[in-house]
Amino acid sequence: MAATPITTPHTPLFQSHAFLKPKATFPKRFSISCSSTIQDRPSLQSQSQDRVFNFAAGPATLPENVLLKAQSELYNWRGSGMSVMEMSHRGKDFRSIIEKAEADLRALLDVPEDYAVLFLQGGATTQFASVPLNLCQPDDTVDYLVTGSWGDKAFKEAKKYCNPKVVWNGKSENYVRVPSFDGLELSPNAKYLHICANETIYGVEFKNYPVPGNPNGVLVADMSSNFCSKPVDVTKFGLIYAGAQKNVGPSGVCIVIVRKDLIGNAQEITPVMLDYKIHADNNSLYNTPPCYGIYMCGLVFEDLLEQGGLKEVEKKNEKKAGVLYNAIDESKGFYRCPVEKSVRSLMNVPFTLEKSELEAEFLKEAEKEKMVQLKGHRSVGGMRASIYNAMPLAGVEKLVSFMKDFQAKHA
Ligand code: PMP
Repeated sequence: MAATPITTPHTPLFQSHAFLKPKATFPKRFSISCSSTIQDRPSLQSQSQDRVFNFAAGPATLPENVLLKAQSELYNWRGSGMSVMEMSHRGKDFRSIIEKAEADLRALLDVPEDYAVLFLQGGATTQFASVPLNLCQPDDTVDYLVTGSWGDKAFKEAKKYCNPKVVWNGKSENYVRVPSFDGLELSPNAKYLHICANETIYGVEFKNYPVPGNPNGVLVADMSSNFCSKPVDVTKFGLIYAGAQKNVGPSGVCIVIVRKDLIGNAQEITPVMLDYKIHADNNSLYNTPPCYGIYMCGLVFEDLLEQGGLKEVEKKNEKKAGVLYNAIDESKGFYRCPVEKSVRSLMNVPFTLEKSELEAEFLKEAEKEKMVQLKGHRSVGGMRASIYNAMPLAGVEKLVSFMKDFQAKHA
């Protein structure tokens, strides 16, 4: 393919962000294929013609301006003469990247000084083991409130390392709600109470949080699928963990925010890879960190701050989710979301079609319109639209308009 000059249709975006201005023209062999005008934030008009609206549950869509910034820095990161992928994973340049990412995340979530922020490998699944291995001993009791299959997986993994008890399980009702906290029989001696703050598959999201039964116990939350989608009072938690690949970056990075006094009591069998103390003492650099992933997370955090922080982000997410849930609820049963209204997720919207035989056609037609990954998780079927931070309102509006047309055709 012939080299493309830097005056691509994305030029207005480069002009509107000083940081995006390339310092030099790209070398000859470098080609970019971009095909539409992009303004400050992606909108329906501005969506690149070569990109789709990706409703995947994760890895998920990333902000276009973040992708373009990464693109502009890929070849030569800030004059270092190399890409982030080529630099030392413990050298000063990467250290500056991880430190900035941490500082921006701390600013976004107002993380207090007595909490450590760790950037780890292994995804959120690894934390299902790391949490019990680091926070308790084999005989310790811990509580799990299970509102979906991720919470259930976390519970099952914990059984290998301690004595977990399920204090509530929504499985028999197909995971459609969060229980009232008053009636829960929490263990008075549990080291922690674990919740999954947003169940990605079932679309059930905690809107407030339970308090552990043990006054010395802590609340632990898997926030993989609603991390940085709204403000969160970190002080309510002893530990928060989140796989990055939904709201804040690519797969392979997992962020742990943990109160410092909980660190350093790992079980003897804990592998160094999983030991929070080793990571905390070495600024997450001890094990080979997933550098490019952390760099991408850093760009996303910077972007979220530029959007005005998580209160603003939450407003946008509420608006998007409102548009979609309203369309479902007003469809006279053609579409249906089974989740109790008070705990419907702002991030993952599962819905079924009254005429389930139309599902394959729905997906096929949507794909033709460049709306992809709308199939529900294989364990539940139906549809699921994941509308994380980076999904523009235009994407949700396009989906809703498609749903209305589809209904008109098939009602
Ligand atoms: N917890 C939740 C809530 C998730 O949605 C996922 C992944 N979809 C996981 C844990 C597992 O994450 P990973 O793939 O990073 O191990």
